[in-house]
Amino acid sequence: MQKYNIMEEYGKRASNANLTKDLGLSNLENVYWNMSPAELIEDTILLGEGVLTDTGAIAINTGKFTGRSPEDRFIVCDEKTEDAVWWGKINKKFEPAKFDALFNRMKAYLVGKDVYVRDSYACADDNYRMNIRVVTELPWANMFAYNMFLRPTDEEIENFSPDWHIVCAPNFLADPEIDGTRQSNFAILNFTQKIIIIGGTKYTGEIKKGIFSVLNFILPHEKNVLSMHCSANVGKDGDTALFFGLSGTGKTTLSSDPNRRLIGDDEHGWDDNGSVFNFEGGCYAKTINLSAEKEPQIYNAIKFGAVLENIGFKEGTSTPDYDDVSITQNTRVSYPIYHIDNIMEPSIGKNPKNIFFLTCDAFGVLPPISRLTKAQAMYHFISGYTAKVAGTEDGVTEPQTVFSACFGAPFLPLHPAKYAELLGKKIENENVNVWLVNTGWSGGGYGEGERMSLSYTRAMITAAMEGKLDNVDFVQDEIFGLNIPTSCPEVPSEILTPRNTWKDKEAYDKKANDLAQRFIKNFETFEAGAPQEILDAAPKLLV
Ligand code: ATP
Ligand code: MN
Repeated sequence: MQKYNIMEEYGKRASNANLTKDLGLSNLENVYWNMSPAELIEDTILLGEGVLTDTGAIAINTGKFTGRSPEDRFIVCDEKTEDAVWWGKINKKFEPAKFDALFNRMKAYLVGKDVYVRDSYACADDNYRMNIRVVTELPWANMFAYNMFLRPTDEEIENFSPDWHIVCAPNFLADPEIDGTRQSNFAILNFTQKIIIIGGTKYTGEIKKGIFSVLNFILPHEKNVLSMHCSANVGKDGDTALFFGLSGTGKTTLSSDPNRRLIGDDEHGWDDNGSVFNFEGGCYAKTINLSAEKEPQIYNAIKFGAVLENIGFKEGTSTPDYDDVSITQNTRVSYPIYHIDNIMEPSIGKNPKNIFFLTCDAFGVLPPISRLTKAQAMYHFISGYTAKVAGTEDGVTEPQTVFSACFGAPFLPLHPAKYAELLGKKIENENVNVWLVNTGWSGGGYGEGERMSLSYTRAMITAAMEGKLDNVDFVQDEIFGLNIPTSCPEVPSEILTPRNTWKDKEAYDKKANDLAQRFIKNFETFEAGAPQEILDAAPKLLV
Protein backbone atom coordinates (compact mmCIF):
# COMPACT_ATOMS: atom_id res chain seq x y z
CA MET A 1 0.00 0.00 0.00
CA GLN A 2 1.25 3.49 -0.79
CA LYS A 3 2.48 5.26 2.28
CA TYR A 4 1.17 8.79 2.57
CA ASN A 5 3.60 10.98 4.42
CA ILE A 6 2.37 13.05 7.21
CA MET A 7 5.05 15.45 8.24
CA GLU A 8 5.83 14.88 11.89
CA GLU A 9 7.59 17.81 13.49
CA TYR A 10 9.64 17.62 16.66
CA GLY A 11 11.55 20.13 18.71
CA LYS A 12 11.58 23.83 19.42
CA ARG A 13 10.52 26.31 16.76
CA ALA A 14 8.64 29.52 16.17
CA SER A 15 4.86 29.11 15.85
CA ASN A 16 5.00 30.40 12.28
CA ALA A 17 8.04 28.35 11.29
CA ASN A 18 7.01 26.51 8.16
CA LEU A 19 9.25 24.76 5.67
CA THR A 20 6.44 24.35 3.15
CA LYS A 21 5.49 28.02 3.12
CA ASP A 22 9.04 29.37 3.27
CA LEU A 23 10.88 26.90 1.08
CA GLY A 24 8.32 24.74 -0.65
CA LEU A 25 9.55 21.61 1.12
CA SER A 26 6.62 19.27 1.53
CA ASN A 27 5.82 15.65 2.28
CA LEU A 28 8.91 15.23 4.36
CA GLU A 29 8.91 12.37 6.83
CA ASN A 30 10.14 13.69 10.20
CA VAL A 31 11.30 17.23 10.71
CA TYR A 32 13.63 17.64 13.67
CA TRP A 33 13.82 21.25 14.78
CA ASN A 34 16.77 22.58 16.77
CA MET A 35 17.77 19.29 18.33
CA SER A 36 20.34 19.31 21.12
CA PRO A 37 23.88 18.11 20.36
CA ALA A 38 23.15 14.91 22.34
CA GLU A 39 20.11 14.11 20.18
CA LEU A 40 22.02 14.82 16.98
CA ILE A 41 24.90 12.62 18.13
CA GLU A 42 22.47 9.82 18.94
CA ASP A 43 20.91 10.00 15.50
CA THR A 44 24.30 10.18 13.81
CA ILE A 45 25.39 6.98 15.54
CA LEU A 46 22.05 5.21 14.97
CA LEU A 47 22.24 6.01 11.26
CA GLY A 48 25.76 4.57 11.14
CA GLU A 49 27.05 7.99 10.14
CA GLY A 50 29.56 8.46 12.93
CA VAL A 51 31.31 7.02 15.97
CA LEU A 52 32.05 8.36 19.40
CA THR A 53 35.71 8.90 20.22
CA ASP A 54 37.16 8.63 23.70
CA THR A 55 37.57 12.41 23.75
CA GLY A 56 33.77 12.71 23.89
CA ALA A 57 33.75 14.19 20.39
CA ILE A 58 31.98 12.40 17.58
CA ALA A 59 33.92 11.47 14.43
CA ILE A 60 32.33 11.44 11.01
CA ASN A 61 33.55 11.02 7.45
CA THR A 62 32.62 13.50 4.75
CA GLY A 63 32.93 10.90 1.99
CA LYS A 64 34.25 11.64 -1.47
CA PHE A 65 34.83 15.31 -0.74
CA THR A 66 37.24 16.13 2.07
CA GLY A 67 37.60 19.75 1.03
CA ARG A 68 35.59 22.45 -0.69
CA SER A 69 35.03 22.23 -4.41
CA PRO A 70 35.53 25.82 -5.63
CA GLU A 71 34.80 24.96 -9.25
CA ASP A 72 31.29 23.85 -8.30
CA ARG A 73 30.38 27.04 -6.47
CA PHE A 74 27.95 29.23 -8.43
CA ILE A 75 26.09 32.49 -7.94
CA VAL A 76 22.70 33.09 -9.51
CA CYS A 77 23.11 35.91 -12.01
CA ASP A 78 20.09 38.19 -11.87
CA GLU A 79 19.19 41.85 -11.36
CA LYS A 80 20.72 41.91 -7.91
CA THR A 81 24.08 40.41 -8.82
CA GLU A 82 24.65 40.97 -12.53
CA ASP A 83 26.42 44.33 -12.26
CA ALA A 84 27.79 43.90 -8.75
CA VAL A 85 29.55 40.53 -8.79
CA TRP A 86 33.05 40.13 -10.20
CA TRP A 87 32.20 37.26 -12.57
CA GLY A 88 34.88 34.87 -13.73
CA LYS A 89 36.50 31.61 -12.74
CA ILE A 90 35.84 32.20 -9.05
CA ASN A 91 32.33 33.58 -9.29
CA LYS A 92 30.57 31.43 -11.84
CA LYS A 93 27.16 32.38 -13.21
CA PHE A 94 24.05 30.26 -12.75
CA GLU A 95 20.75 31.05 -14.47
CA PRO A 96 17.75 31.86 -12.23
CA ALA A 97 15.48 29.40 -14.05
CA LYS A 98 18.08 26.65 -13.73
CA PHE A 99 18.31 27.37 -10.02
CA ASP A 100 14.54 26.99 -9.60
CA ALA A 101 14.53 23.76 -11.58
CA LEU A 102 17.43 22.27 -9.63
CA PHE A 103 15.96 23.31 -6.30
CA ASN A 104 12.66 21.68 -7.33
CA ARG A 105 14.48 18.45 -8.03
CA MET A 106 16.09 18.65 -4.61
CA LYS A 107 12.69 19.15 -3.01
CA ALA A 108 11.36 16.10 -4.84
CA TYR A 109 14.35 14.15 -3.64
CA LEU A 110 13.66 15.11 -0.03
CA VAL A 111 10.07 13.84 -0.12
CA GLY A 112 9.64 11.07 2.41
CA LYS A 113 12.98 11.83 4.06
CA ASP A 114 13.85 13.12 7.50
CA VAL A 115 15.44 16.53 7.78
CA TYR A 116 17.12 18.42 10.59
CA VAL A 117 16.52 22.15 10.94
CA ARG A 118 18.83 24.55 12.75
CA ASP A 119 17.99 28.15 13.52
CA SER A 120 21.17 30.15 13.88
CA TYR A 121 22.66 33.48 12.95
CA ALA A 122 25.79 35.16 11.68
CA CYS A 123 27.46 38.39 12.89
CA ALA A 124 28.02 38.91 16.60
CA ASP A 125 27.36 42.66 16.23
CA ASP A 126 23.57 43.16 16.42
CA ASN A 127 23.74 45.89 13.79
CA TYR A 128 24.56 43.26 11.19
CA ARG A 129 22.87 40.15 12.57
CA MET A 130 21.69 37.79 9.85
CA ASN A 131 19.33 34.97 10.81
CA ILE A 132 19.98 31.70 9.02
CA ARG A 133 17.77 28.62 8.90
CA VAL A 134 19.76 25.56 7.91
CA VAL A 135 17.95 22.45 6.66
CA THR A 136 20.17 19.39 6.46
CA GLU A 137 19.68 15.84 5.40
CA LEU A 138 22.30 14.59 7.86
CA PRO A 139 22.23 15.11 11.63
CA TRP A 140 25.95 15.79 11.91
CA ALA A 141 25.80 18.53 9.28
CA ASN A 142 23.21 20.12 11.54
CA MET A 143 25.64 19.85 14.43
CA PHE A 144 28.25 21.54 12.31
CA ALA A 145 25.85 24.47 11.80
CA TYR A 146 25.17 24.52 15.54
CA ASN A 147 28.90 24.63 16.28
CA MET A 148 29.94 27.13 13.64
CA PHE A 149 27.15 29.69 13.53
CA LEU A 150 25.92 31.81 16.42
CA ARG A 151 23.31 30.21 18.61
CA PRO A 152 20.01 31.99 19.38
CA THR A 153 18.51 31.67 22.86
CA ASP A 154 15.37 29.54 23.35
CA GLU A 155 13.33 32.71 23.43
CA GLU A 156 14.90 33.90 20.20
CA ILE A 157 14.10 30.55 18.59
CA GLU A 158 10.43 30.96 19.55
CA ASN A 159 10.38 34.25 17.62
CA PHE A 160 12.85 33.29 14.93
CA SER A 161 12.43 34.75 11.49
CA PRO A 162 15.06 33.63 8.95
CA ASP A 163 16.78 36.10 6.65
CA TRP A 164 18.61 33.38 4.74
CA HIS A 165 18.08 29.64 4.21
CA ILE A 166 20.55 26.88 3.49
CA VAL A 167 19.31 23.56 2.17
CA CYS A 168 21.99 20.89 2.25
CA ALA A 169 21.23 17.48 0.75
CA PRO A 170 24.55 15.70 0.13
CA ASN A 171 23.00 12.47 -1.13
CA PHE A 172 21.11 14.31 -3.85
CA LEU A 173 23.26 14.20 -6.98
CA ALA A 174 22.82 16.73 -9.74
CA ASP A 175 22.84 15.65 -13.34
CA PRO A 176 24.94 18.19 -15.27
CA GLU A 177 22.91 17.54 -18.45
CA ILE A 178 19.64 18.41 -16.77
CA ASP A 179 20.77 20.80 -14.08
CA GLY A 180 23.49 22.85 -15.71
CA THR A 181 26.02 22.08 -13.00
CA ARG A 182 29.61 21.09 -13.74
CA GLN A 183 29.28 17.71 -12.06
CA SER A 184 27.07 16.03 -9.48
CA ASN A 185 28.04 18.29 -6.56
CA PHE A 186 27.23 21.98 -6.27
CA ALA A 187 26.87 24.92 -3.92
CA ILE A 188 24.75 27.72 -5.36
CA LEU A 189 24.10 31.14 -3.83
CA ASN A 190 20.88 32.95 -4.70
CA PHE A 191 20.97 36.55 -3.39
CA THR A 192 17.45 37.39 -4.54
CA GLN A 193 15.76 34.42 -2.91
CA LYS A 194 18.32 34.43 -0.08
CA ILE A 195 18.92 30.71 -0.33
CA ILE A 196 22.03 28.57 -0.61
CA ILE A 197 21.53 25.08 -1.97
CA ILE A 198 24.19 22.43 -1.53
CA GLY A 199 24.09 18.94 -3.00
CA GLY A 200 26.38 16.07 -3.90
CA THR A 201 28.96 16.86 -1.24
CA LYS A 202 29.04 16.23 2.50
CA TYR A 203 32.00 18.52 3.08
CA THR A 204 30.82 20.83 5.85
CA GLY A 205 33.08 23.70 4.84
CA GLU A 206 30.64 24.42 1.99
CA ILE A 207 28.00 25.43 4.57
CA LYS A 208 30.37 27.74 6.44
CA LYS A 209 32.03 29.29 3.41
CA GLY A 210 28.66 29.67 1.67
CA ILE A 211 27.51 32.10 4.34
CA PHE A 212 30.93 33.74 4.36
CA SER A 213 30.56 34.43 0.63
CA VAL A 214 27.10 35.88 1.24
CA LEU A 215 28.45 38.26 3.88
CA ASN A 216 31.39 39.18 1.66
CA PHE A 217 28.82 40.48 -0.79
CA ILE A 218 26.26 42.08 1.49
CA LEU A 219 28.48 43.82 4.03
CA PRO A 220 30.83 45.76 1.74
CA HIS A 221 28.28 46.25 -1.03
CA GLU A 222 25.24 47.28 1.00
CA LYS A 223 26.57 48.32 4.41
CA ASN A 224 30.03 49.71 3.77
CA VAL A 225 31.54 47.19 6.21
CA LEU A 226 34.82 45.46 5.43
CA SER A 227 34.48 41.68 5.56
CA MET A 228 37.68 39.79 6.19
CA HIS A 229 39.12 36.28 6.00
CA CYS A 230 41.01 36.57 9.26
CA SER A 231 41.10 35.48 12.88
CA ALA A 232 41.01 37.98 15.72
CA ASN A 233 41.87 38.20 19.40
CA VAL A 234 42.15 40.79 22.16
CA GLY A 235 44.91 41.45 24.69
CA LYS A 236 44.57 42.40 28.34
CA ASP A 237 44.54 46.10 27.46
CA GLY A 238 41.74 45.60 24.97
CA ASP A 239 44.07 45.79 21.97
CA THR A 240 42.71 43.85 19.02
CA ALA A 241 44.89 41.88 16.60
CA LEU A 242 43.83 40.48 13.23
CA PHE A 243 45.49 37.54 11.48
CA PHE A 244 44.83 37.32 7.75
CA GLY A 245 46.00 34.37 5.73
CA LEU A 246 45.07 31.66 3.27
CA SER A 247 44.36 28.09 4.32
CA GLY A 248 47.04 26.49 6.46
CA THR A 249 48.95 29.68 7.22
CA GLY A 250 48.03 29.75 10.92
CA LYS A 251 44.90 31.85 11.49
CA THR A 252 43.30 29.33 13.81
CA THR A 253 46.53 28.16 15.43
CA LEU A 254 47.97 31.60 16.17
CA SER A 255 44.74 33.24 17.30
CA SER A 256 44.28 30.62 20.01
CA ASP A 257 46.61 32.16 22.54
CA PRO A 258 45.99 31.53 26.26
CA ASN A 259 47.02 35.11 27.06
CA ARG A 260 44.55 36.74 24.73
CA ARG A 261 40.80 36.44 24.41
CA LEU A 262 39.64 34.89 21.15
CA ILE A 263 37.14 36.90 19.08
CA GLY A 264 37.00 34.39 16.27
CA ASP A 265 39.11 32.09 14.14
CA ASP A 266 38.23 32.75 10.50
CA GLU A 267 35.69 35.38 9.44
CA HIS A 268 35.18 38.93 10.70
CA GLY A 269 33.67 42.28 9.83
CA TRP A 270 35.13 45.72 10.59
CA ASP A 271 32.83 48.73 10.48
CA ASP A 272 33.34 52.48 10.61
CA ASN A 273 32.33 52.66 14.27
CA GLY A 274 35.40 50.66 15.24
CA SER A 275 33.65 47.34 15.72
CA VAL A 276 35.53 44.18 14.76
CA PHE A 277 33.01 41.38 15.02
CA ASN A 278 33.00 37.66 14.44
CA PHE A 279 30.63 36.32 11.81
CA GLU A 280 30.63 32.92 13.44
CA GLY A 281 30.10 31.22 16.76
CA GLY A 282 32.65 28.46 16.44
CA CYS A 283 36.02 27.31 15.21
CA TYR A 284 37.03 24.95 12.45
CA ALA A 285 40.55 23.79 13.22
CA LYS A 286 42.90 21.52 11.36
CA THR A 287 43.82 18.44 13.35
CA ILE A 288 46.79 17.22 11.33
CA ASN A 289 49.66 16.44 13.75
CA LEU A 290 47.71 18.09 16.56
CA SER A 291 49.28 17.66 19.99
CA ALA A 292 48.44 18.74 23.54
CA GLU A 293 51.94 20.18 23.91
CA LYS A 294 52.01 22.41 20.85
CA GLU A 295 48.37 23.45 20.60
CA PRO A 296 46.76 22.83 24.01
CA GLN A 297 43.74 25.08 23.48
CA ILE A 298 42.64 23.34 20.29
CA TYR A 299 43.50 19.91 21.66
CA ASN A 300 41.36 20.50 24.75
CA ALA A 301 38.47 21.87 22.72
CA ILE A 302 37.99 18.38 21.28
CA LYS A 303 35.42 17.06 23.70
CA PHE A 304 31.67 16.35 23.82
CA GLY A 305 29.98 18.53 21.20
CA ALA A 306 32.95 18.78 18.86
CA VAL A 307 32.68 17.08 15.46
CA LEU A 308 35.86 15.48 14.08
CA GLU A 309 36.12 14.99 10.32
CA ASN A 310 38.00 12.32 8.41
CA ILE A 311 40.42 11.37 11.17
CA GLY A 312 42.05 8.00 11.80
CA PHE A 313 42.26 6.05 15.06
CA LYS A 314 45.02 4.46 17.07
CA GLU A 315 44.71 0.80 16.25
CA GLY A 316 42.03 -1.06 18.16
CA THR A 317 40.93 2.00 20.12
CA SER A 318 38.52 4.91 19.99
CA THR A 319 41.43 7.30 20.42
CA PRO A 320 41.93 9.73 17.52
CA ASP A 321 45.28 9.49 15.78
CA TYR A 322 45.94 12.99 14.55
CA ASP A 323 49.03 11.85 12.66
CA ASP A 324 46.92 9.58 10.49
CA VAL A 325 46.37 11.32 7.18
CA SER A 326 45.23 8.24 5.28
CA ILE A 327 41.86 9.82 4.42
CA THR A 328 43.11 13.37 3.85
CA GLN A 329 45.65 15.94 5.01
CA ASN A 330 42.68 18.20 5.65
CA THR A 331 41.43 16.49 8.82
CA ARG A 332 39.31 18.92 10.82
CA VAL A 333 37.29 19.53 13.92
CA SER A 334 34.44 21.97 14.48
CA TYR A 335 33.53 23.14 17.97
CA PRO A 336 31.54 25.99 19.47
CA ILE A 337 33.78 28.90 20.45
CA TYR A 338 33.06 28.40 24.15
CA HIS A 339 35.17 25.23 24.02
CA ILE A 340 38.11 27.66 24.15
CA ASP A 341 38.78 28.95 27.69
CA ASN A 342 39.68 32.51 27.03
CA ILE A 343 37.10 34.11 24.76
CA MET A 344 35.67 37.55 24.21
CA GLU A 345 31.92 37.69 24.89
CA PRO A 346 30.21 38.80 22.78
CA SER A 347 32.73 38.18 19.98
CA ILE A 348 33.44 41.86 19.30
CA GLY A 349 36.64 43.88 19.55
CA LYS A 350 37.72 47.44 18.81
CA ASN A 351 39.75 48.91 15.94
CA PRO A 352 42.83 46.69 15.64
CA LYS A 353 46.19 47.86 16.86
CA ASN A 354 48.07 45.16 14.93
CA ILE A 355 47.35 43.31 11.74
CA PHE A 356 49.35 40.23 10.75
CA PHE A 357 49.41 38.92 7.21
CA LEU A 358 50.30 35.26 7.53
CA THR A 359 51.99 33.50 4.67
CA CYS A 360 53.34 29.99 4.61
CA ASP A 361 56.25 30.57 2.25
CA ALA A 362 57.49 27.12 1.30
CA PHE A 363 60.35 28.69 -0.71
CA GLY A 364 61.85 29.89 2.58
CA VAL A 365 62.74 33.35 1.32
CA LEU A 366 60.37 35.70 3.15
CA PRO A 367 61.42 36.83 6.64
CA PRO A 368 59.64 35.27 9.62
CA ILE A 369 58.46 38.74 10.60
CA SER A 370 58.72 42.13 8.95
CA ARG A 371 56.97 45.48 9.32
CA LEU A 372 55.04 46.78 6.34
CA THR A 373 54.57 50.36 5.25
CA LYS A 374 50.98 51.31 4.39
CA ALA A 375 51.73 50.92 0.69
CA GLN A 376 53.37 47.54 1.24
CA ALA A 377 50.39 46.48 3.32
CA MET A 378 48.08 47.25 0.42
CA TYR A 379 50.41 45.52 -2.03
CA HIS A 380 50.53 42.34 0.05
CA PHE A 381 46.81 42.40 0.79
CA ILE A 382 45.96 42.57 -2.89
CA SER A 383 48.60 39.92 -3.72
CA GLY A 384 47.52 37.46 -1.02
CA TYR A 385 50.54 35.22 -1.32
CA THR A 386 51.22 31.83 0.19
CA ALA A 387 52.94 28.70 -1.10
CA LYS A 388 51.68 25.19 -0.80
CA VAL A 389 53.94 22.22 -0.56
CA ALA A 390 53.28 19.80 -3.34
CA GLY A 391 52.96 17.15 -0.65
CA THR A 392 51.42 13.90 -1.70
CA GLU A 393 52.17 13.81 -5.40
CA ASP A 394 55.10 11.62 -6.32
CA GLY A 395 58.19 13.35 -7.58
CA VAL A 396 56.80 16.84 -7.14
CA THR A 397 59.09 18.61 -4.72
CA GLU A 398 58.80 22.22 -5.82
CA PRO A 399 56.28 24.25 -3.81
CA GLN A 400 53.39 25.88 -5.65
CA THR A 401 52.79 29.60 -5.37
CA VAL A 402 49.26 30.69 -4.56
CA PHE A 403 48.15 34.28 -5.00
CA SER A 404 44.64 34.79 -3.72
CA ALA A 405 43.52 38.41 -3.52
CA CYS A 406 42.70 39.72 -0.04
CA PHE A 407 43.80 36.34 1.33
CA GLY A 408 40.46 34.85 0.38
CA ALA A 409 39.60 35.20 -3.30
CA PRO A 410 37.43 32.04 -3.49
CA PHE A 411 34.94 33.62 -1.07
CA LEU A 412 34.85 37.15 -2.48
CA PRO A 413 31.96 37.92 -4.83
CA LEU A 414 33.08 41.53 -5.41
CA HIS A 415 36.19 42.81 -7.17
CA PRO A 416 39.22 42.67 -4.82
CA ALA A 417 39.64 46.44 -5.23
CA LYS A 418 36.48 46.94 -3.17
CA TYR A 419 37.90 45.16 -0.11
CA ALA A 420 41.32 46.73 -0.62
CA GLU A 421 39.81 50.20 -0.75
CA LEU A 422 37.95 49.64 2.53
CA LEU A 423 41.02 48.21 4.25
CA GLY A 424 43.24 50.99 2.92
CA LYS A 425 41.02 53.69 4.41
CA LYS A 426 40.96 51.95 7.75
CA ILE A 427 44.71 51.46 7.94
CA GLU A 428 45.10 55.10 6.99
CA ASN A 429 42.64 56.37 9.59
CA GLU A 430 43.34 54.08 12.51
CA ASN A 431 47.12 54.01 12.61
CA VAL A 432 47.42 50.24 12.62
CA ASN A 433 50.75 48.37 12.59
CA VAL A 434 50.83 45.84 9.78
CA TRP A 435 53.24 42.90 9.86
CA LEU A 436 54.04 40.18 7.36
CA VAL A 437 54.68 36.85 9.09
CA ASN A 438 56.14 33.85 7.30
CA THR A 439 54.94 30.76 9.14
CA GLY A 440 56.54 28.62 6.43
CA TRP A 441 60.07 27.56 5.66
CA SER A 442 63.40 28.81 6.96
CA GLY A 443 67.01 27.82 6.19
CA GLY A 444 66.04 26.71 2.68
CA GLY A 445 62.86 25.84 0.90
CA TYR A 446 60.67 22.78 1.30
CA GLY A 447 62.90 19.70 1.23
CA GLU A 448 65.98 21.64 2.35
CA GLY A 449 65.03 23.86 5.26
CA GLU A 450 62.42 23.40 7.95
CA ARG A 451 59.10 24.93 8.83
CA MET A 452 59.46 27.82 11.27
CA SER A 453 58.92 26.54 14.79
CA LEU A 454 55.52 27.44 16.10
CA SER A 455 56.98 28.69 19.37
CA TYR A 456 59.23 31.18 17.53
CA THR A 457 56.33 32.42 15.43
CA ARG A 458 54.27 32.87 18.58
CA ALA A 459 57.17 34.72 20.26
CA MET A 460 57.57 37.09 17.30
CA ILE A 461 53.86 37.87 17.21
CA THR A 462 53.77 38.42 20.96
CA ALA A 463 56.78 40.74 20.75
CA ALA A 464 55.11 42.76 17.99
CA MET A 465 51.87 43.05 19.96
CA GLU A 466 53.65 44.05 23.15
CA GLY A 467 55.55 46.82 21.37
CA LYS A 468 58.87 45.03 21.87
CA LEU A 469 59.79 45.49 18.23
CA ASP A 470 59.15 49.23 18.28
CA ASN A 471 62.64 50.23 19.30
CA VAL A 472 64.88 47.58 17.80
CA ASP A 473 67.03 48.04 14.69
CA PHE A 474 65.57 47.07 11.36
CA VAL A 475 67.31 46.11 8.14
CA GLN A 476 65.68 46.43 4.76
CA ASP A 477 65.55 43.41 2.53
CA GLU A 478 66.91 44.21 -0.90
CA ILE A 479 64.37 42.47 -3.09
CA PHE A 480 61.08 42.73 -1.23
CA GLY A 481 61.89 46.00 0.53
CA LEU A 482 60.62 44.51 3.79
CA ASN A 483 61.78 45.97 7.10
CA ILE A 484 63.16 43.14 9.21
CA PRO A 485 63.85 43.49 12.94
CA THR A 486 67.40 42.44 13.79
CA SER A 487 66.45 41.16 17.23
CA CYS A 488 63.36 39.83 18.93
CA PRO A 489 62.84 38.54 22.49
CA GLU A 490 62.85 34.72 22.80
CA VAL A 491 63.97 34.26 19.19
CA PRO A 492 67.53 33.61 17.97
CA SER A 493 68.56 36.68 15.94
CA GLU A 494 70.16 34.61 13.19
CA ILE A 495 66.81 33.27 11.98
CA LEU A 496 65.28 36.72 11.50
CA THR A 497 66.97 37.43 8.16
CA PRO A 498 66.28 34.49 5.84
CA ARG A 499 69.34 35.01 3.64
CA ASN A 500 71.50 34.33 6.71
CA THR A 501 69.79 30.99 7.29
CA TRP A 502 70.62 29.67 3.83
CA LYS A 503 73.99 27.97 3.40
CA ASP A 504 74.05 28.77 -0.29
CA LYS A 505 73.53 32.55 -0.61
CA GLU A 506 73.41 32.40 -4.38
CA ALA A 507 70.63 29.87 -4.22
CA TYR A 508 68.76 32.18 -1.86
CA ASP A 509 69.11 35.18 -4.20
CA LYS A 510 67.93 33.10 -7.12
CA LYS A 511 64.91 31.79 -5.28
CA ALA A 512 63.99 35.20 -3.85
CA ASN A 513 64.27 36.76 -7.27
CA ASP A 514 62.11 34.02 -8.69
CA LEU A 515 59.40 34.63 -6.10
CA ALA A 516 59.62 38.39 -6.68
CA GLN A 517 59.06 37.79 -10.36
CA ARG A 518 55.92 35.82 -9.56
CA PHE A 519 54.61 38.63 -7.35
CA ILE A 520 55.15 41.11 -10.17
CA LYS A 521 53.50 38.87 -12.74
CA ASN A 522 50.51 38.25 -10.48
CA PHE A 523 50.03 41.96 -9.80
CA GLU A 524 49.64 42.80 -13.49
CA THR A 525 45.88 42.17 -13.23
CA PHE A 526 45.59 44.82 -10.53
CA GLU A 527 47.93 47.49 -11.93
CA ALA A 528 45.29 49.49 -13.75
CA GLY A 529 43.79 51.97 -11.32
CA ALA A 530 46.20 51.18 -8.47
CA PRO A 531 47.88 54.27 -6.95
CA GLN A 532 51.57 54.77 -7.80
CA GLU A 533 52.49 54.40 -4.13
CA ILE A 534 51.18 50.84 -4.10
CA LEU A 535 52.84 50.00 -7.40
CA ASP A 536 56.11 51.25 -5.92
CA ALA A 537 55.76 48.75 -3.08
CA ALA A 538 56.33 45.87 -5.53
CA PRO A 539 59.50 43.78 -5.11
CA LYS A 540 62.57 44.94 -7.05
CA LEU A 541 64.34 42.31 -9.09
CA LEU A 542 68.09 41.83 -8.73
CA VAL A 543 69.86 42.40 -12.01
P1 ATP B 1 42.06 27.54 7.27
O1 ATP B 1 41.73 28.82 6.56
O2 ATP B 1 42.09 26.38 6.31
O3 ATP B 1 41.24 27.29 8.47
P2 ATP B 1 44.27 28.44 8.99
O4 ATP B 1 44.94 29.68 8.48
O5 ATP B 1 43.33 28.60 10.11
O6 ATP B 1 43.62 27.66 7.73
P3 ATP B 1 45.63 26.64 10.72
O7 ATP B 1 44.48 25.74 10.95
O8 ATP B 1 46.01 27.55 11.82
O9 ATP B 1 45.44 27.45 9.37
O10 ATP B 1 46.85 25.72 10.26
C1 ATP B 1 48.21 25.98 10.47
C2 ATP B 1 48.89 24.62 10.54
O11 ATP B 1 50.31 24.76 10.47
C3 ATP B 1 48.58 23.94 11.86
O12 ATP B 1 48.44 22.57 11.62
C4 ATP B 1 49.85 24.25 12.68
O13 ATP B 1 50.09 23.27 13.66
C5 ATP B 1 50.93 24.21 11.62
N1 ATP B 1 52.14 25.02 11.90
C6 ATP B 1 53.41 24.54 11.90
N2 ATP B 1 54.29 25.52 12.14
C7 ATP B 1 53.59 26.67 12.28
C8 ATP B 1 53.97 28.03 12.54
N3 ATP B 1 55.24 28.40 12.68
N4 ATP B 1 52.98 28.94 12.63
C9 ATP B 1 51.68 28.58 12.46
N5 ATP B 1 51.28 27.31 12.21
C10 ATP B 1 52.21 26.35 12.12
MN1 MN C 1 41.30 28.14 10.33
